[in-house]
Amino acid sequence: MSWTTDPRDALRVTADFDLATFDRASTPGFDGDKAEAEALMAQRGELMAELQERLFAEGREGGTRSLLVVAQGIDTAGKGGIARHVMGMVDPQGVQLRSFGVPTEEERAHHYLWRIEKALPTPGRIGVFDRSHYEDVLVVRVDGLAEEAVWRARYDEINEWERQLVEAGMTVVKVALMVSHDEQGRRLMERLDRPDKRWKFSPGDLRTRAKWDEYQEAYADVFRLTSTEHAPWYVIPADKKWYSRLAITEILTRTLAEMRPQWPVPDFDVADMRAQLATSMSDDALRLSLEDTRESVEEAIAQSVDVRQEAIELRGGERREERAKALKKAWEADLEATIAQKKRILKDRRG
Ligand code: ADP
Repeated sequence: MSWTTDPRDALRVTADFDLATFDRASTPGFDGDKAEAEALMAQRGELMAELQERLFAEGREGGTRSLLVVAQGIDTAGKGGIARHVMGMVDPQGVQLRSFGVPTEEERAHHYLWRIEKALPTPGRIGVFDRSHYEDVLVVRVDGLAEEAVWRARYDEINEWERQLVEAGMTVVKVALMVSHDEQGRRLMERLDRPDKRWKFSPGDLRTRAKWDEYQEAYADVFRLTSTEHAPWYVIPADKKWYSRLAITEILTRTLAEMRPQWPVPDFDVADMRAQLATSMSDDALRLSLEDTRESVEEAIAQSVDVRQEAIELRGGERREERAKALKKAWEADLEATIAQKKRILKDRRG
């Protein structure tokens, strides 16, 4: 019960992709059921959280990398659920969630990428876009909000703009959640039926639904024209919510694992700082700290080794045992040196 194919391969848009025959109730690459998906998702969530923390730490120490997740999909496809259930597994400090609605007057006065650019994730962050610049070739096209020549020119412009982001250190992942017409009907009906869900419904949803075919055509062109090597589209079947959430979790975890974020190496002398800090601590506090050292550091080592092993596994790397062991040995040696230093400081005080 796990992935039989890397979902990035199973869901990535290729030249022969055909949205018209795309099965929105399918579960490509995964052979488990809902319960198995939820168990695997929780496990991946822990790994994703740790990788995200490393990326965040890297950004704090002058790193320039970030991850941008563009989420598109028609109403009820589950974009909100991705923000809540997938991104909810990582530290909110490291996530920049932005939604894009109808442009304000100020936004309309600028180039359509202006408001998008302002919302890009800062280094170390995961940016999540709930709708994006792709609305400028989707709703704008379907509702005729701009001349055809205007929106037609945007596909190339978007590709070029995304290429610049990638060159500047951003990893760009685009996911499109695709529900079937029947499933959207059921989900909209549920929003009308349930008093606690009516706030999610707007009469405009029916007008959008009435233009189903036009939207499908516009989405097909987005996939055909803007899925690039540097910023690929993954089309996610979204009739089964447990699958779409799991698939996006897996895509993001594998993407983060491939980025290989590392804990930054301090630019100060740790032993020297420890000695200085110790001079400000009482004997009792220092003794308690010494007692705790082994347990707290060993727990951190175990956790890091696990993460490293899982990440290497996801990257399909060989010799994971050896590489994880090398890290473990280095950190264990560091731990022994730490304990020895603390003991020495305490002894010198007594002496
Ligand atoms: P949601 O429907 O996702 O809950 P909102 O109620 O804020 O969010 O509405 C989003 C609406 O804004 C959608 O109907 C979408 O088509 C529209 N929208 C987003 N970007 C643009 C744009 N660039 N031009 C016109 N309409 C846009």
